[in-house]
Amino acid sequence: MYAVTKVIRFCYGHRLLDYRGKCRYLHGHNGKVEIELGSLVLDRRGMVRDFEEIKRTVQRWIDTTLDHTMLLRRDDPLAPMLRRRRERCVLLDTNPTAEAIAKLIFDYCVRLRFPVTAVRLWETEHSVATYRASTPASFDSLRSSLDPARDPSSRDPEPVEGLRTGPERSRVT
Ligand SMILES: [Zn+2]
Repeated sequence: MYAVTKVIRFCYGHRLLDYRGKCRYLHGHNGKVEIELGSLVLDRRGMVRDFEEIKRTVQRWIDTTLDHTMLLRRDDPLAPMLRRRRERCVLLDTNPTAEAIAKLIFDYCVRLRFPVTAVRLWETEHSVATYRASTPASFDSLRSSLDPARDPSSRDPEPVEGLRTGPERSRVT
């Protein structure tokens, strides 16, 4: 199986609710995400995916949505205040752990129909969380992803389910 990995760096802030460690306090990370795409066959260019395609799509989305953004659980009491102050804020249905952020990026890649096999988020130099495709059935989607009619770079992706970005679309329940 072939694989390519794109590395993207971004900064984010977060805190964890219902958690007793020091990550319950607001703090930030210089994160590094590794996006791994895999395929059993190469396209006519001899590629799994052009790195430039990943840059144009996923990196652009990370730059505009997650970079320099506060990631909070949807019911975090800080969320309404940040929304009023028009701070960059993304609300997740779960605690914004490295695992949850890795899955968020993985799901976005799936929506782009990229043959993503794993997303690894390095929260620090020593701590990394991974979300990966877990079933053999995913290999079928890897094959079908090579259909040129499904070029993800030719269209804008839909918003990520459960994700509300920016003050206008933020929602707190
Ligand atoms: Zn943290």
